[in-house]
Amino acid sequence: MADTATGYHRNDGLIPAPGLQFGFRHLEAVIDQRWEVQTRLLLVFVDGLGLAPAGPHNPLAAAPTPTLRRLLGGPLVAERVGAAAAGSRLAALDANLGVDGLPQSATGQTALFTGVNAAAAIGRHASAFPGPRLRRLIHRHGLLGRLDSAGHRVTFANAYSQSFLRDLESGEARRSVTTCLVQYAGLGFRAEAELAVGRAVSWDITRELFVARTGAAVSCVSAAAAGEHLAAIAGRHRFTLFETFLTDLAGHHRLDVTPAEAIARVDGLLGGLIAAAPDELTVLLTSDHGNIEDSSSRLHTRNPVPLVAVGPAVDRFAGLRSILELAPAVVAGLEG
Ligand SMILES: [Zn+2]
Repeated sequence: MADTATGYHRNDGLIPAPGLQFGFRHLEAVIDQRWEVQTRLLLVFVDGLGLAPAGPHNPLAAAPTPTLRRLLGGPLVAERVGAAAAGSRLAALDANLGVDGLPQSATGQTALFTGVNAAAAIGRHASAFPGPRLRRLIHRHGLLGRLDSAGHRVTFANAYSQSFLRDLESGEARRSVTTCLVQYAGLGFRAEAELAVGRAVSWDITRELFVARTGAAVSCVSAAAAGEHLAAIAGRHRFTLFETFLTDLAGHHRLDVTPAEAIARVDGLLGGLIAAAPDELTVLLTSDHGNIEDSSSRLHTRNPVPLVAVGPAVDRFAGLRSILELAPAVVAGLEG
C-alpha cells in the first residue's frame, strides 16, 4: 500500500509509480497491526508452465525438483493432480478460456490477474504486451488495485532495471500485464537498489540474466537465497506477487537456459521460500498457459496449468478449475 504523501512504501522505500495520485491513508498502520497474524498470500506466477502427463517430452518428469516432489509426492505432472502431501495441494486449471487457438500471455495474464475472460472479451488469444482494451480491463479489475483499495498491504516483488524505470517515466516502456497491474494500483516499483540488498527478486531468480541485460551492479544469488528474499517480502505484506518468465523463454528456446534448468531454478526458489516462509503464509504457484511441459514443440500448448498451493489456506484453492477463478479466490481468501 502506498504511503500518504510520497507514494513510497513505509517499509520498502520503493520507487513511486510515475504519474499517479496517491490517496490519504493514515489508517494503514492500524490495519496492518490488526491483520498481522491473519492469512498472507504469495502468488508465484510462472509464465508458460503447463501440466501434462509424465513422458519423454515432459521435462518436468525428469528435472531435478526435490521441493515439488516432496510437496506433491512426485514430479509436477498431470498424474499428481489431487495430490495432498503434507499441507499442499495440486489442481489443474483451464487456460484456454473457451477460445480456439493457443493461449497467449497478454490475454492469459489479464484473465489470471483480473478474473475477467480477456480472450473472450477480445475474441482471440493475444500475445506479449496488452493493448488498450486489455489495459482497460486491468485498470478496472486488476487484482493488486482491488486488494489495495480494500485496505490490504500488497506488493510486486520483482526488481526493475533503472533504464526500464526511466522508460516507464517517459512513457516509452512497453508495459507487460504485471507492470500495468502495479502501475494502475498506484504501487511502487522495486529497483536495482532493493535487489542489491535482497528486498526484491529478479525475473530470472538467480540474477545472471538480469545483470547481463542491464549491467546492474548486483551479485548473483542461489535460487534458494532468492526464495528466502521472497519469503521475507511476503512476510511484510498481505498479498505478494512475483513473476518469472524464465520458463516461457526456455520453452521457446530463446535462452541459453534449458527447460530442465529453468524448472530446477523455480524449484530451488520454492525450496528456499518454503523453508523461510512465516507460518501464516500460503504460497500459490500457477501459470498463464502451457509451454515448457512439452519439449516436442517450441510453442505454447492447450494443456491446463498447475495450481500448487502450500500453507494454511490451501483448502480455499484446491477446488479451482480455471485461471479465471484465481483472482476471486485470492480476494475471498484475504477477506477471511
Ligand atoms: Zn510464450
